Amino acid sequence: MEKKYNPYENMLAVLEEAAGKLGLCRDDYIALCSPERELTVSVPVVMDDGRVEIFQGYRVQHSSVRGPYKGGVRFHPEADIDEVKALAAWMTWKCAVVNIPYGGAKGGIRVDPDLLSTKELARMTKRYVAQILPIIGPEQDIPAPDLNTDGQVMAWMMDAYSMLKGYAVPAVVTGKPLEIGGSLGRVEATGRGVVLTLMSYLEKMGLAPDNMKVAVQGFGNVGSTGAKLLKENGFSIVAINDVDGSVYNPDGIDIARALDYAQRHHKTLAGYTEPGLTKISAAEFWALPVDILFPAAMENQINEDNAGSIKARIVLEGANGPTTVEADAILNAKGVDIIPDILANAGGVVVSYFEWVQNLEAFTWEEDEINKKLAVMMKKAFTEVWHVSKEKKVPLRMAAYMVALDRVVRARNLRGVFP
Ligand code: NAD
Repeated sequence: MEKKYNPYENMLAVLEEAAGKLGLCRDDYIALCSPERELTVSVPVVMDDGRVEIFQGYRVQHSSVRGPYKGGVRFHPEADIDEVKALAAWMTWKCAVVNIPYGGAKGGIRVDPDLLSTKELARMTKRYVAQILPIIGPEQDIPAPDLNTDGQVMAWMMDAYSMLKGYAVPAVVTGKPLEIGGSLGRVEATGRGVVLTLMSYLEKMGLAPDNMKVAVQGFGNVGSTGAKLLKENGFSIVAINDVDGSVYNPDGIDIARALDYAQRHHKTLAGYTEPGLTKISAAEFWALPVDILFPAAMENQINEDNAGSIKARIVLEGANGPTTVEADAILNAKGVDIIPDILANAGGVVVSYFEWVQNLEAFTWEEDEINKKLAVMMKKAFTEVWHVSKEKKVPLRMAAYMVALDRVVRARNLRGVFP
């Protein structure tokens, strides 16, 4: 079935506009309109009952202009090449916004991981690595976790790559468990970065958290960590939407309790109850009288069907591409400030970069040092984007794209077009 929104076209529309505002000529950015490399692989897996199932996998490398390709791998039943292409390009812009020496890539397997046993998932992951082996590596392309993938999946990926090479190669993936070269602070890094970015924004606006009401979509790595840290910083999380529906508690959800529940129930709150909590529809969720909407699930969730009903003043993009171009225009016209994905959720790739550096040095850093370095980089990126936004009178998303595209194009012009 064809999807209603094509995230890659969404990305291209913003790219074209940013190029126009920067006064770039076509030759400056035309190479960035298509990924450098796209690989589609067939992943056969012997299932527990002996049957062989084939899963479609992808690895897209958008740009290596500023350094090795970097980006997550997702397992999702609707993963397709356009989604992975868009996610790969967003990684290029994200790494450029926070100014780390990486290009952008992304991978995916079209699979519903809930339908596979742990052993089937391990075999699928390891075979996927074998299929994409020629194009990944610590100096080439470094995968990481994304939707429905975690430290365990990264451990399988690291193992498969290492076995096929014949020696241990921890730096081939980031987001690994600590026992095999993972970094302290990586699991929380994306959520932490989201909150740091929001705090920088509020500081510029002269606002304080002051029990501001937040509705969060997605209660996995990004959504639940973000919600926990937002609560610790004085915000009130009043609603959560996940694959199983939406819950609302105007007095604030007990996040520690909800988190404990979600961890035991596949990252969802299906069946979760607490005093004052009611079930609401998805349409009601988006239209809640909250200060902040924090989408942290999938792309295209805020679109022209629900953007008009949104009452929040701030959209904090934890997910990649949660807002369509049409919804972006509707929200901008309403005066809603959108703190864009490529800036807000960059904390994950920043600490992935720290993990990779630690692996290459064969040395580990303390968590405090990592969190401090993350805070410095997130603040610097926010301040640069904010400055462009004010100077050029453009929304934060356009400003972030302008900062990123300017950096990538400068690097490209220095290197030239090969040969
Ligand atoms: P995850 O698998 O840990 O959690 C995903 C959550 O989203 C789950 O709670 C699930 O129930 C919910 N969800 C999925 N589809 C949904 C739908 N259609 N409607 C409502 N809820 C839905 O994934 P994650 O790692 O937290 O990633 C979430 C988003 O953040 C993705 O867009 C991802 O690309 C982005 N992101 C992740 C990282 C990272 O470090 N993990 C970094 C940057 C960006």
